[in-house]
Amino acid sequence: RVDLGARAYDVRIGPGLIARAGQEIAPLLKRRRVAVLTDETVSGLHLESLRAGLGDIEMTSLALPAGESTKGWPQFSRAVDWLLAEKVERRDIVIAFGGGVIGDLAGFAAAVLRRGVRFVQIPTTLLSQVDSSVGGKTGINSVHGKNLIGAFHQPALVLADIDVLDTLPARDFLAGYGEVVKYGLLGDAAFFDWLEQNAPAMAAGDAGARQYAVRRSVEMKARIVERDETEEGDRALLNLGHTFCHALESATGYSDRLLHGEGVAIGCALAFELSQRLGLCSQEAPSRVRAHLKAMGMKCDLADIPGDLPGAEGLLALMAQDKKVIDGKLRFILARGIGESFVATDIDTGIVRRLLEDALAGR
Ligand code: NAD
Ligand code: ZN
Repeated sequence: RVDLGARAYDVRIGPGLIARAGQEIAPLLKRRRVAVLTDETVSGLHLESLRAGLGDIEMTSLALPAGESTKGWPQFSRAVDWLLAEKVERRDIVIAFGGGVIGDLAGFAAAVLRRGVRFVQIPTTLLSQVDSSVGGKTGINSVHGKNLIGAFHQPALVLADIDVLDTLPARDFLAGYGEVVKYGLLGDAAFFDWLEQNAPAMAAGDAGARQYAVRRSVEMKARIVERDETEEGDRALLNLGHTFCHALESATGYSDRLLHGEGVAIGCALAFELSQRLGLCSQEAPSRVRAHLKAMGMKCDLADIPGDLPGAEGLLALMAQDKKVIDGKLRFILARGIGESFVATDIDTGIVRRLLEDALAGR
């Protein structure tokens, strides 16, 4: 349960949730009808299962193109106008059925439709199950940058069905795994130990291991969001690795060259390296992070990103544009060791520049 007083909600995690979606959602319904926003890939693979799972609840659906480029004004306005054409009212429920792109877009549509309708997240990627479906950040991208238009709007329920991950391509699974590793690194060394032992089984399809990892990740996110719903303080810890990640995503044009979760993994490795260079943690910590990512076959260095990248100065400039900059000072999440992160403001740009130069020299 994510305990946010009047906005509290449950996150159900396990197999078979889509098959019994109707029972799970029924207590929220004021009339037996839901509007589902999804993408074309998820629709092709899983929409019929959801329809069957909803039983006698009437379902209407709109499938948007799959991919990050959907998360902008054109598809957003299409979705909102469709919801209005479907006569979705204040008492109704919107369902976000897909990965983080659909969750963010549908959640924002629900936030603004008739000044706010309730919505249910049914996340279908590992990334969306462990991260984006929980916590209430919704929104779309602008030509000025990612996630710059949005609202805090908590879901009324989250159904994370482990079975649906079986159809996820390996690359998307590992990208989502980047956010899972992040939770161990930011606040739970025992979980990171567990991941070192069990992540290969997770990647190979072990449902029990997947369920535990999603559960532990969501528990950590929930406790942080409960303390700081609108990111005035501690919620920033969830951005471990993200200052580097956002610069790299921007440098690669939010393209297939680098998926968000891949950037998070590289960013976590760099954040630990930076922490070590600042004398905050021993060399063992960044070495262990890198070794684990490598063992999982994940990107962990700038050398693993195909194509050209800007130089250190260019990457620093991109970091300075990130919304994580406060009063022109770089804000990083750093660590005293695995599982011991904290928010650091006012980081000397010289050290970051040298770190980036060294990382780029390895390319
Ligand atoms: P995504 O939604 O684009 O999904 C990745 C790909 O997997 C898509 O092509 C999708 O069609 C496909 N897919 C989804 N489920 C599938 C399944 N079960 N089987 C086969 N294919 C499937 O991307 P994502 O990685 O889930 O999410 C990334 C987005 O999440 C970014 O826009 C990022 O900004 C956002 N995000 C938001 C938050 C938040 O707190 N709101 C946190 C982290 C990330
Ligand atoms: Zn992220």
